[in-house]
Amino acid sequence: MKRNIKSHVKLVGIIGHPISHSWSPLIHETAFRIMNQDYHYAAFDVHPKNLRDALKGMIALGIVGCNVTIPHKEAVMEFIDEISADARLVGAVNTIHVENDSLVGHNTDVDGVVEALKPYRDQIADQSVTVFGAGGGGRAAVYSLISYYHPAQIFVINRDTSRAELMKKFFSDSQNYNNIKVVELHSLDEGNVIETSRLVINATSVGMSPSPGENVMMADPKDLDGKIFFDLVYNPVQTQFLKDAKKKNATTVSGIEMLYNQAAKSFEIWTGMSMPVDKVREKLDPKFAAARVTTRRRAAVH
Ligand code: NAP
Repeated sequence: MKRNIKSHVKLVGIIGHPISHSWSPLIHETAFRIMNQDYHYAAFDVHPKNLRDALKGMIALGIVGCNVTIPHKEAVMEFIDEISADARLVGAVNTIHVENDSLVGHNTDVDGVVEALKPYRDQIADQSVTVFGAGGGGRAAVYSLISYYHPAQIFVINRDTSRAELMKKFFSDSQNYNNIKVVELHSLDEGNVIETSRLVINATSVGMSPSPGENVMMADPKDLDGKIFFDLVYNPVQTQFLKDAKKKNATTVSGIEMLYNQAAKSFEIWTGMSMPVDKVREKLDPKFAAARVTTRRRAAVH
């Protein structure tokens, strides 16, 4: 995307480490160009040892705000002046807005999950759901489910069960939600849990580029008719997890839905304007669908 950057341009961006594979610059830059706005979205590779200075520098340089991605989503909380209720309850910040020389933290991954699942709201309420993963994405998914979808029970399947137990305790203490059951990844229980769940979410990085052939789920149920499978992974747009589920008649939701929706909310926080998501999608969906794996380095989450 070629353009002249004027001196009065307003700067937003993303901090992560690594950052080179992020799709967020393309989404936000496309939106700014469609709207003819003098904003620029830059990707900053910030080493963890420089995180505090980078955040201070944002204020000094007059940067409007930034997205935050792996590995900084939790670490930034220590250096932020104010944290939104959602971000506090998830325990992670993915969007910072500089307001009156203060850093205000938000979690728009929650908006991303909530919006992506909106068409299925009635099917999820009072049902059992399964979430693979207990990292930042898993926390955002579980918090969104508890707060906005009210499932009867949430099974959290993770490789490291102690991490999942910590998450269970966190939501019991903070949300008084006591219906999380921890299951070990690839244990015998996995099949039963999937069988009883209406919604199954992959919030692990398994299946993400550059290993797109992998599926975190080992259980192999015959038919998934009536179930919804949602993958937070968006690169590739159609993951193995979704392809396998679709073959067995499940309804599938790609992580790209969450990506656009979290981006739109961050955009609104920084600019006070709505992102023209439909127009952005018209331009970018074909590019993302055709995205090829070009490296073995781990992709960033935004
Ligand atoms: P994270 O905090 O690093 O957590 C990674 C999770 O994946 C943990 O549960 C980890 O299990 C699990 N995992 C990693 N490698 C595994 C393996 N080989 N086998 C089994 N489990 C494995 O990362 P995150 O921020 O939650 O992100 C997870 C995924 O969500 C990423 O692909 C990211 O791109 C995606 N995401 C997408 C969006 C979006 O807008 N669509 C937003 C946020 C995140 P252990 O705890 O056992 O290590």
